[in-house]
Amino acid sequence: MWQEYPFLSGKETRNQPCVGISACLSGERVRYDGTSKIQPDLINQFSPLITLKPLCPEVAIGMGIPRRPMQLNLNNQLIDAVYKEDQAQSFTQPINQYADLIIDQYERDIASNKLCGYIFKSRSPSCGAGSTPVFSDGIHVRFGDGIFAHKLRQALPWLPVMEEEELEHPRSRNRFLFLVYLISDYHQSVEKKSDEQVFFAHHKALIKGLPRKKRTQLNSALEHGNCPEDLIYAPDCALTLLTESLQEISHHEFEEIITKARDTKP
Ligand code: SF4
Repeated sequence: MWQEYPFLSGKETRNQPCVGISACLSGERVRYDGTSKIQPDLINQFSPLITLKPLCPEVAIGMGIPRRPMQLNLNNQLIDAVYKEDQAQSFTQPINQYADLIIDQYERDIASNKLCGYIFKSRSPSCGAGSTPVFSDGIHVRFGDGIFAHKLRQALPWLPVMEEEELEHPRSRNRFLFLVYLISDYHQSVEKKSDEQVFFAHHKALIKGLPRKKRTQLNSALEHGNCPEDLIYAPDCALTLLTESLQEISHHEFEEIITKARDTKP
């Protein structure tokens, strides 16, 4: 489906979009018990289309392999990553510092090296994207992001993000690839023309298909620089509204938008 949308200039270029991936999903034996969680189908399908950039925040901060497993605790409204069996030592700060390094690197990268998406390992205290259990006084109270994933998503709120379990579904894979190529287009367009308006003008048929509320917010962000209150700290507000909307809608709505946009000249 995503290949049918003809306005993604990155699709046939030499520079494939760069996508971060939890290193254990790409086959690296970096988990706490020295194993990997390789996803052969996913890697085989995505490798010819995108450049995967494996990262393991826990190994990067020197936790070693093997290591004791961690969990997330809620302490005074703050989330803390600690060993399951020894909760005195916190790893939140070093993982946040590592995320800052990745975000700094993103800011410095040229367009072809910039992150265009991220595939996170579900339920990980570092890498989970919404599915990680959070405990308070030993009781499971909710699900949330891992420390590293949370920091990255705060800094780059427009980044298309999915966990490997969601990507088991072909329609999710299609949507993820579409969003990755769209972001790649954005990076290239801004680098070449130094003007994000050119990108949005190019994809106006796509914007036209968005649900009315999101479309109005997006146009207001583009024309007047207005950003909805819940995105007040979001850099690249219009881009965030676009990708957020394309991720929130149903598969059916998404596919309908692409089909309509496909037949409309930019
Ligand atoms: S989930 Fe993240 S931190 Fe855990 S092993 Fe995989 S890459 Fe490393």
